[in-house]
Amino acid sequence: MSGTRVRPGDKIRCDACPVMCYIAEGRVGACDRYANDGGRIVRCDPITVLDRRLGEGGEVSPFLQREWDGDVLGGDTLAVTAVGAGTTYPDYKPAPFIVSREVDGADFVTVVTEAIFSYCGVKVKIDTDRHIGSEMAAVRAGGEAVGHVTTSEYGSQMLSLGGVEHLTGGSKPEGRATCDALLRLCNREPVELSVDGGAQVIVQAGQAPVVNGHREDRMRVGCGSAAIGMFASQWQGLVDEVVVVDDHITGVVSEHQAGKVLGWPDTGIRIRGRRSTPGRYFRVADPGSGWGGTDIDDPLTILGDWNPKKGARPGLTLLMVSTTGEQWGYYVLDDALVPQPAALPPELDPTVALIAENCEPALCTVLFMGGAGGSLRAGVTRNPVRLTRSVQAQRTRVTVGGAPAYVWPGGGITLMADVTRMPVNAFGHVPTPALVAPLEFTLPRDEYRALGGHDEAVRTLRDVLERGGEYGADFRAVPPEGG
Ligand code: SF4
Repeated sequence: MSGTRVRPGDKIRCDACPVMCYIAEGRVGACDRYANDGGRIVRCDPITVLDRRLGEGGEVSPFLQREWDGDVLGGDTLAVTAVGAGTTYPDYKPAPFIVSREVDGADFVTVVTEAIFSYCGVKVKIDTDRHIGSEMAAVRAGGEAVGHVTTSEYGSQMLSLGGVEHLTGGSKPEGRATCDALLRLCNREPVELSVDGGAQVIVQAGQAPVVNGHREDRMRVGCGSAAIGMFASQWQGLVDEVVVVDDHITGVVSEHQAGKVLGWPDTGIRIRGRRSTPGRYFRVADPGSGWGGTDIDDPLTILGDWNPKKGARPGLTLLMVSTTGEQWGYYVLDDALVPQPAALPPELDPTVALIAENCEPALCTVLFMGGAGGSLRAGVTRNPVRLTRSVQAQRTRVTVGGAPAYVWPGGGITLMADVTRMPVNAFGHVPTPALVAPLEFTLPRDEYRALGGHDEAVRTLRDVLERGGEYGADFRAVPPEGG
């Protein structure tokens, strides 16, 4: 959050956000996004065009200004994104670019604008079994609370970061830290987060999470019960008992329905934990960074005494394994029915490897989440609610820097989009503090007219590429989906 806010003089005023910086010749405003270039306010980043030909490994299209050869604008080869487009705060005037182009013989309009979000946040999915903190625990960046832990989902821990309470509802340092963390996460940079009473996590969209200094490798194949269900038949005949250790549901093959169906004999095993249904146990240990997201390093601690009346006998073999296959142990019951560690028989090697093989790479996923509010919609149409209805009816497609957005049902245009599908550095900020995100609305020209769109401001793609817009005429072309 650097930048210089300067005072009036021979300076000119940027009106792209409520800060309204006066910017001297050759300087940039407080957000680093706009500059005074020869007495004109320009957007520092070029407007980004997604070029499908680049995505397919083709040459850079010679489409810009005087170089344009007039031959690439048919079809949907090029799509103008809002990255670098600028904004029209407050939206009393049409969005910076309203571009018409032909797609499959039909006339479409794409409205692009960089929207200012004081209410936005990110949802973070961290693929790890490791316990990173309790539900509702505060998540901090630079010591400031920027969000909280939400539910854990299968194989992943979820965070909710940002939102108006942290951006503008707390102290100034809290707002600044939140905006900075959101900006860096959305621009796919690594951010170190700490969870109150939990772990330190380095989160970077599209990269493996680093939990307490440990870089995750695999995302679990499923819970302990699911792993039993998937692989029981492959263990049959090779080992007398299998326990898949998991913080959520620990599975025991001899008791599990999968084992029963296969005719697996009882072993007299006892698991310390809360039995849910046959062969499925909750709370075998506390959450932690050990086996299967528990706090244990020795899996034998979850076992009680073996019952000889139900099948326990000296020589009985036992495989214990975690949900990622990263940890495993092989044991043989001695004469006192105590499991003794033994070398894993070679025939069991492939079964452990199969669990690992079925795990997917552990990643961090960052979904930007925001709501396209009324004033922003006014840059699209004079009758903003009609845009909402058109989006909700899927007649208008919303994208964020070219990435498809999931639009929530219900009121308004509340959306989520995967930041890894956008061009890099698609996001900016203003010091109010708020995040700036690219937004594009694409709809048939007839629909645009019907919802009261700024039809007089529609320009052809060719005109836009040749002459640029109010904030400059520089373009860059990138492949779609940030590839
Ligand atoms: S913070 Fe940026 S967008 Fe806002 S007025 Fe200053 S230069 Fe313009």
